[in-house]
Amino acid sequence: METKDVLLKLRTQKGLSQEELAAKIFVTRQAVSRWETGETIPNTETLKLLSKVFDVSINTLLGSPRKLVCRCCEMPLDDGNMSRETDGSFNEKYCKWCYADGEYTLDYLKRYGEIGGKEKLEEFKKQLIDELNTLLQTEGLPTVSKLNMLSGEYINLEYTLPNGEIVKFLDDKQTYLGNRLKAEFGDRFIGIAANMDFLLVCTFEENGENPELVIYKKR
Ligand SMILES: [Zn+2]
Repeated sequence: METKDVLLKLRTQKGLSQEELAAKIFVTRQAVSRWETGETIPNTETLKLLSKVFDVSINTLLGSPRKLVCRCCEMPLDDGNMSRETDGSFNEKYCKWCYADGEYTLDYLKRYGEIGGKEKLEEFKKQLIDELNTLLQTEGLPTVSKLNMLSGEYINLEYTLPNGEIVKFLDDKQTYLGNRLKAEFGDRFIGIAANMDFLLVCTFEENGENPELVIYKKR
């Protein structure tokens, strides 16, 4: 959809006349009319105001020209899962799980931000990879070479204990460092999730089905 169609649709949905919208964002009715005929497009400052009035991201206002992904966990972004600043405006760089209330939600990102930023985080990742590979080797599993940031909500699998009890080990609201590997034999995948406090290794089938816990270890 083009910007002109998006703007017309949002204005109509909100039940506003061109005049009413114009007054809200400090432009003339003619300006609104020109956007809706496609003669011009709103400038950056006006886009910000429109984003507020309609509660949609600027990318949506522009007809979604960019495929946005979270720079932290690489999750595809839409207006529903996009992060916001403390004033309610959209932050189109991150998902709402990785960034909220004006800061990163990740505990270790915050901690490493304080003591040395991205470089320290990379060091921490290397250290985690070494620890994980020692564990994976003792289990005869393939080793891991890269860790991504993963939202807890997507990787918080339910494990069934021998007594039938169902347990989860992660927090939906947290973000973890992890990855998914293909097992050398069979159709199962190996899932890894870790943070400053623990390491978890599990196996599962496509789409996280029939998960089995292999290792849960405090660091
Ligand atoms: Zn994210």
